[in-house]
Amino acid sequence: MDKIKAEKVIISAFNSLIGKLHAQEKYDPKTLIDDMYRLAKTLNSDTSLTLSLQMKEESYELEYKALAEESLNSYTQTKESVERITKEQCKLIDDSKKKNMLPVDRIMNSFSTIHAQLESQMQNANETIKALHQQVSILEKTSHLDPLTHALNRRALDSYLGKVCSAPNKSIDTHIMLIDIDNFKLVNDNYGHLAGDRVLVFLAKLISNSLREGDKLFRYGGEEFLIILSRSNTIACTKVAERILQGVRSNTLFYKEHEIKITLSIGTASLEETDTFDSFIDRADKALYKAKANGKDQLVVA
Ligand code: GH3
Ligand code: MG
Ligand code: MG
Repeated sequence: MDKIKAEKVIISAFNSLIGKLHAQEKYDPKTLIDDMYRLAKTLNSDTSLTLSLQMKEESYELEYKALAEESLNSYTQTKESVERITKEQCKLIDDSKKKNMLPVDRIMNSFSTIHAQLESQMQNANETIKALHQQVSILEKTSHLDPLTHALNRRALDSYLGKVCSAPNKSIDTHIMLIDIDNFKLVNDNYGHLAGDRVLVFLAKLISNSLREGDKLFRYGGEEFLIILSRSNTIACTKVAERILQGVRSNTLFYKEHEIKITLSIGTASLEETDTFDSFIDRADKALYKAKANGKDQLVVA
């Protein structure tokens, strides 16, 4: 094969390759490698032409394969890695250029196009991720659920109990129960903060199982919970509180090699006509304080 003929074969193969690459929706390195292989083989079948492509066949495949794989990975990874690969590709192409093997300028252009596409798609992906982050943070701000225990959060309490207390005809059959874990600092100190978190989740579940539908459980503070019982009375409220106290006493949380036992103190209060949000909670809080002062692991009715 003479030099002009070889050049024509290369250029036509190259054009077809670029055509295929452009037609692809996603950059498929296999097509590139396969076609370059086929081209190298065609040219090498004519022994009158010694193409350095044959000598480099092995390393070419490996180098391109590695680069192509990296290119694909970089699509889902970072912009920095694309820049690094670009440098590596430029170096590889430069090396090829020195050896006079391929129409490198056009290959370079094609890679630039591929990279421009990758970069723009990554830009889009980054923007989507950023938008999702913003949505999550908005959701966190507007959510009514405590992420750890899945009890209702303080915001939900302010809104719900605020309405109950400011209603013109107050539902005086509303009761609240303020619950504080006894000596919770010791749980954190002895078993670690993560163990403390497991206790909070465990307690929230245990309390939820003791409630009727319509009763509401809120995480009031760090290790304090508040329950609202609607359409209840002091006797029923006391029963629920005793059931929770007993449930907690008789359960053990297994965390790693530890068996963790806790007790609770509870203060309850029933809604009065003159109550505001603050005065209602304050009565339950005072009752809770008494339960602590009386030795913990007990209930005090305001
Ligand atoms: P008391 O019987 O008087 O209630 O004693 P206590 O140790 O429970 O004391 P207190 O209620 O003042 O302490 C609450 C502790 O709860 C302090 C804080 O480190 C811990 N805490 C608060 N929120 C969390 C949380 O989300 N996870 C964990 N692991 N610990 C928490
Ligand atoms: Mg507390
Ligand atoms: Mg406590």
